[in-house]
Amino acid sequence: MKRIVSFFAFALLMGLGVQAQEAQLGFCGTPAHKSEWLERYQQNPQVINRTMMDTIYVPMTLHIVSQDNGAGAMSMNRLMDAFCQLNSVFEQAAIQFYIKGDIRYISNSNYYDHDNAAGRQMMETYNVPNTFNCYIVGDPNGACGYYQPSRDAVALGKSCLGPSDFTWAHEAGHFLSLPHTFYGWETTDYNYDSPTPNTVTWSNITRAVERVNGTNCSYAGDGFCDTSPDYLNFRWNCNADSESGQIQKDPNGIEFRSDGTLIMAYSDDGCASIFTDGQIGAMRANLEQERQGHIVNQTPPAPIASTELNPIFPEAGAGVQNYEAFDLQWEAIPGAEIYFVDISRLSTFSFTIANYVVTTNSVSIGADELAADKTYYWRIRPFNRYDACTGYSDVFSFELTDLVSSTSARETVEGLRLYPNPVQKDQEVILEFASEKASTATFSLLSLTGQALRSQRSNITIGANRMSMSTAGLPKGLYMVRIDANGGANYRKLVVQ
Ligand SMILES: [Zn+2]
Repeated sequence: MKRIVSFFAFALLMGLGVQAQEAQLGFCGTPAHKSEWLERYQQNPQVINRTMMDTIYVPMTLHIVSQDNGAGAMSMNRLMDAFCQLNSVFEQAAIQFYIKGDIRYISNSNYYDHDNAAGRQMMETYNVPNTFNCYIVGDPNGACGYYQPSRDAVALGKSCLGPSDFTWAHEAGHFLSLPHTFYGWETTDYNYDSPTPNTVTWSNITRAVERVNGTNCSYAGDGFCDTSPDYLNFRWNCNADSESGQIQKDPNGIEFRSDGTLIMAYSDDGCASIFTDGQIGAMRANLEQERQGHIVNQTPPAPIASTELNPIFPEAGAGVQNYEAFDLQWEAIPGAEIYFVDISRLSTFSFTIANYVVTTNSVSIGADELAADKTYYWRIRPFNRYDACTGYSDVFSFELTDLVSSTSARETVEGLRLYPNPVQKDQEVILEFASEKASTATFSLLSLTGQALRSQRSNITIGANRMSMSTAGLPKGLYMVRIDANGGANYRKLVVQ
């Protein structure tokens, strides 16, 4: 009966909060790589006009990797915050990513913390063609993330996907053909004290070192003339002018500092924010020329109308008196395709006791999922495949009461039982019990929410009593029988089949 998911495969996390200490990861593990396509493109780059660009929608497959036992998977809330950041950063390029198909879950410790070979194997096994495949893992080969050119996919360390981190945007830049701004220096350390060479060489590739005067910018360094020279292949923080503290010297001996605003440099997340026109032109051309299989559905998404929560069941502040499985339900929000639902004992949600990801405007709460006789707070966060930049709704509460178990210790009749139970539709149900005294009792049949559907008064005698009650006309479902007798209430659940 669970109407849970399929689009966003099921993610139910009870007792969130314990997170393993995460290793400090290096920045980008992308190997020095420049595609033949980019070399060709840069010989005749297109000029862009930022105000005239149509948005390109790029399908993305998210693979959430956990350990063998399922532990360690990035939480959906954090992942959506990171996805929001990715698309926010790419607005400047008029490129927007959307989640195509189901979010994929992979439980494999060898992939969760992987080396280069395991990463390639993972991507080869799970890549979905014609989508931007992103693997969210614990430790992607010791880096915050990397683009694997041979598999055309990226791996991302979950600890580097904070809501204002640029790791994902940086690796997406690699995916869309961009090299580092310090391209050529990946394996050569810059030494200010030595004269700067005209070329840098690694493996069997030799690259011209970019000069400040721009004379060789189209073929030196990253090949983009609007990214200034940069030789820094280590993580660095920027100064108040968003430049490197390290002064560098080009082959002519001209001093300069690296531009920290460039996402494809190794500056800290607090500095980075920008793709240049040249980089944006290349990324868009890469999609249009090299990735036509990705550019399929270009229909703009319907926006999410609001984050307003209008509870249907239980109504705001209402109770579920006879706690059995029930559907927590709210009014559907136009444009929303996915909802996160959080349930907490605290209105502050400083911790949650249940989290659901659903594609309908309801979630099935099982009979044993929540403890009875408590107040719960709930909220939703609506999403669609394009838009993760939504907040949470207002908070509502409901009470769960289990009258049957909470009052069983105070029963005022003895040995109460119903049979048959379950009872067939329209069949009579027999109530048997013993009473210590003769009195008048009220027999009621209640709905799940405690509403009396029918009621009758009868005399009861000392000793054994036997009554019958009609179920004629009752829809199939769960009900409660209540006997008010001898100054107290006695409850039993009744199932009509
Ligand atoms: Zn990189």
